[in-house]
Amino acid sequence: ERLLSGESLGGDGEAENGIRPQRLADYVGQSVVREQMEVFIHAARARSEALDHTLIFGPPGLGKTTLAHIIANELGASLRQTSGPVLEKPGDLAALLTNLEPHDVLFVDEIHRLSPVVEEILYPAMEDFQLDIMIGEGPAARSIKLELPPFTLVGATTRAGLLTSPLRDRFGIVQRLEFYDTADLTRIVTRAARILGVAIDAEGAGEIARRGRGTPRIANRLLRRVRDFAQVKADGAIDVAVAARALDMLNVDRFGLDHMDRRLLLAVMERFDGGPVGVDSLAAAIGDERGTIEDVIEPYLIQQGFLARTARGRVAGRRAWAHFGLTPPAGGEL
Ligand code: ADP
Repeated sequence: ERLLSGESLGGDGEAENGIRPQRLADYVGQSVVREQMEVFIHAARARSEALDHTLIFGPPGLGKTTLAHIIANELGASLRQTSGPVLEKPGDLAALLTNLEPHDVLFVDEIHRLSPVVEEILYPAMEDFQLDIMIGEGPAARSIKLELPPFTLVGATTRAGLLTSPLRDRFGIVQRLEFYDTADLTRIVTRAARILGVAIDAEGAGEIARRGRGTPRIANRLLRRVRDFAQVKADGAIDVAVAARALDMLNVDRFGLDHMDRRLLLAVMERFDGGPVGVDSLAAAIGDERGTIEDVIEPYLIQQGFLARTARGRVAGRRAWAHFGLTPPAGGEL
């Protein structure tokens, strides 16, 4: 059981509240992904086969775990959930694989963090539904082969580039999740509010969506905090004024930039003259991990034009200078 990371590790408590969509029809946005998955899932079901192994990548909070659960639900199969760092030894993965029922989904979050020895036994498991494991040590060691039931591996990672190519090549389906636009996030917030039983009007939901950083997890989290604010400082209902006041109090600005975003952008502009600056120097300057910058902070800033990634490093975008009312050095503006 240690190998199965439960919902409790998700940190949102959302599954318990019923906010996480269970069906493809309730999965908002990502229309390309949704349309493709619908076809692949139906085809696999019609043939009574396991769905091809599926890799989902995209920044945190965009719906990778949710999609994995939906895939299992739509297949009518069970989902077993684990994560790369939890699987320390080949035996850990072997234990999970040998307990699968035919057509089950094994969801491996942070699959880029699998250790090489564990990854190695995953290859034949994915390709031929076979397990090659060594039993014993030294001269008495012998390798045994086990047949596995046909299963679907769903792997999630923040960036596809983090995977080794032999692993990436073994996924028949690769889906990339995009940031959500305001209209889609508004639908997500409205749906979550309905489930939570919070009164919210369209403008109130739109305000939370605009400041939701293109990310359902963040938008839903902001909704909870705005709900608290509405309860204490207003009559419990969320309109645009209540939402705006609450979000200002939370230090989320009108583009959804938070404290970490502002610190990074200000460092690029004020300490590195707008860049280019290498990500390691930037990490040192703001006291964050390089991985956090690359996975969590910069994808949204790049997508929104606040930051650009060039061969020589990160460069502040035109939008960043305008947003902070700063003047780029001559010739330094992107
Ligand atoms: P990830 O695994 O990519 O970090 P999750 O799947 O945990 O993200 O998504 C975080 C939360 O955001 C979910 O619990 C769900 O409530 C919400 N969510 C994500 N994607 C969608 C979507 N497409 N439609 C509606 N809600 C979503």
